[in-house]
Amino acid sequence: MKTIFEPSRQVEVVHETEVLVVGSGPGGLSAALAAARAGVEVTLVERFGCFGGNITVVGVEGMHWYRHEKTVESMGIPKEFEDAAKDAGAAVPESQSLSYEIDSEGFKLVADCLIEQAGIHPMLHRQFVAPIMEGNSIVGIITESKAGREAILAKRIIDATGDADVAYRAGAPTIAMPREDMMAASVMFHLAGVDKAKFMDGIKADPQTYADWGGGGEWNIETSGKEDGMFSPFLGKPFAQAIKAGIIPPHLNTIAGTWGAMHDSGELTYMNLVHLDGIDGTDPNSLTFGEMEGRRQAMLAIEALKRFTPGCGKARLRNFGMSLGIRDTRKVDTAYRIRELDVREQGRFEDSIGIFPEFIDGYGVLILPTTGRYFEVPYRNLLPKKIKNLLVSGRATGAERIAHAATRNMACCAVIGQGAGVAAAMSIKQRSRDLDQMDVADIQNELKRQGARVH
Ligand SMILES: Cc1cc2nc3c(=O)[nH]c(=O)nc-3n(C[C@H](O)[C@H](O)[C@H](O)COP(=O)(O)OP(=O)(O)OC[C@H]3O[C@@H](n4cnc5c(N)ncnc54)[C@H](O)[C@@H]3O)c2cc1C
Repeated sequence: MKTIFEPSRQVEVVHETEVLVVGSGPGGLSAALAAARAGVEVTLVERFGCFGGNITVVGVEGMHWYRHEKTVESMGIPKEFEDAAKDAGAAVPESQSLSYEIDSEGFKLVADCLIEQAGIHPMLHRQFVAPIMEGNSIVGIITESKAGREAILAKRIIDATGDADVAYRAGAPTIAMPREDMMAASVMFHLAGVDKAKFMDGIKADPQTYADWGGGGEWNIETSGKEDGMFSPFLGKPFAQAIKAGIIPPHLNTIAGTWGAMHDSGELTYMNLVHLDGIDGTDPNSLTFGEMEGRRQAMLAIEALKRFTPGCGKARLRNFGMSLGIRDTRKVDTAYRIRELDVREQGRFEDSIGIFPEFIDGYGVLILPTTGRYFEVPYRNLLPKKIKNLLVSGRATGAERIAHAATRNMACCAVIGQGAGVAAAMSIKQRSRDLDQMDVADIQNELKRQGARVH
């Protein structure tokens, strides 16, 4: 392979802080809020122009769609996201659950407000590119932006990039599955111009259930049985009809999935219909292919909806998500990796930093928390091996394959984030105690004070 030599250079330190959170999705935003509320200086770095991660960048609006009557909730920041969106008029009732669907555009403003109210120092448009190391300790990061390379120093750093960018480059061991086994990537989109009354009449006339998800790739699912007869906002038939009519080529029988919210304004949002296998979210060439191929497939899906779905005849593309949606890349080999058994059989841990209902969605499994079952997330799940001063939050925490199908969910990422933020803050307040030497009872007490459920 041809290489070039990149000369070393001096980089200006533009900012210093106590807790630095890199990435502002459910796992990062919650970490920053929790740390700030625990009383330390917090800075939040984000590569894009808005906070919120997949919610705002990809358009993933269903944060609590697992919630049913008997679901035991995590409370704390995940619930606060939903409540704050509701209060801001940025949420509508969700069709399959006792929850609200978060408006992906409105949540940009909700996140801005939460950040300002908590006194967090916001740094948008800066991409983390390299760690600053002193031996095995991370003491800062280098970002790249329109201003070139800049250094930010911090006492504790939380990697909430989703892809474990910070941990990986700092030298923490990470694990990724072969790309052909990773969860599919999706180009998400929102529609305008849908006739709500006709669309909803069509849904009522032919309601789909979770059992209808079968049909190819990700959609061949194992349930616990109790999910099969329940309503799901699933769309499959229009695409099968489009294949028959020659509008969609037969090999694209992976086009199917769920709609999110049908608004009075005629917008049909959170269209999760395109599934691209074999995309590696840490390979820009693979991402380039996924973005372009995903948009092409989304337009085929829209054509099928226009022809074969009541109320969609005059629909038009309102927008794609700002970025391809990635579900699955590197995970950090943390001190404790959550096991499949933990999420299926109510794992309990003395060092729990939060709970998450028994909700498993991915790798061909769908289990909904229609009972009060839940598992706990241990603090050790956030601790990378080898690297000091670093915690991991969000979907990059250590988890076995099926366990990731639970922990990747946005509300669980926010549970983990709240735990990470509190732990980072407490480690500074406890006279700079090492993150792996923490008194977990102190973390748990602060989490409870912040309204989170710990056990
Ligand atoms: C299409 C799709 C549908 C989904 N549907 C659902 C659903 O219905 N319900 C559900 O609960 N979950 C769903 N998920 C999963 C969920 O969205 C993610 O697992 C979750 O958002 C992960 O949260 P996170 O905070 O770890 O990462 P993200 O939400 O990905 O946030 C990471 C943030 O870090 C930033 N970042 C990344 N790298 C850098 C860097 N180098 N420097 C600076 N910033 C960086 C990113 O820009 C982003 O803002 C879905 C995912 C996809 C892709």
